[in-house]
Amino acid sequence: MGLQVYQFPCGPLETNAILFGEGGIGAAIDPSLGSAEKIVVQAQQSGLKIEKILLTHSHWDHIADVHALKEKTGAFLCVHPLDAKNVEAPGSDGLPLYFPIAPARPDHLLRDGEIVTVGSLHLEVIHTPGHTPGGVCFYLAGQSILFAGDTLFCGSMGRTDLPTGNAQNMGSSLRKLAKLPPKTRVISGHGPDTEIGKEAWLQSPRFSNS
Ligand SMILES: [Zn+2]
Ligand SMILES: [Zn+2]
Repeated sequence: MGLQVYQFPCGPLETNAILFGEGGIGAAIDPSLGSAEKIVVQAQQSGLKIEKILLTHSHWDHIADVHALKEKTGAFLCVHPLDAKNVEAPGSDGLPLYFPIAPARPDHLLRDGEIVTVGSLHLEVIHTPGHTPGGVCFYLAGQSILFAGDTLFCGSMGRTDLPTGNAQNMGSSLRKLAKLPPKTRVISGHGPDTEIGKEAWLQSPRFSNS
């Protein structure tokens, strides 16, 4: 069986938790509030063993079920070092917490350009600060899929007005994404999928020139 990808919009902001995998090995991305149970059930039905939890960033709506999913699966938690603190001490990023979030300890700190393996799948880590300092996108080059978190949405970009935001960094991060092949499917942290080539504004001079 080829690549399997499942999306679970969960929590008050309908944050897209994701389960993906191939050949019996899987990983979860951004387990949002209420997603852990759904991810585990889907993984069982799909015959996927969840070996890793990957975080695009550590905003509360993306980490609410990290602790629960780690408990259920024993999966290895991966996050960029600049976003790790808010996983260990939820709320320390300065955003209000609307409900308590259990802390979790990262097992691995992601580096820009690193290749994360999930079974036979290879995901390139692209550091994309701007929405948060340690924001990353995960690029499955072989399958032409980008897990974009809250950096790039269908028709828009992530907020930079939050305490974790930086508009200048967002500009350079979007310029990196604009260079990906136009047919790349983009799965975002909220809302519907898109493609790099469908986001015409990404190619505007503001983002395509240095
Ligand atoms: Zn966010
Ligand atoms: Zn979000």
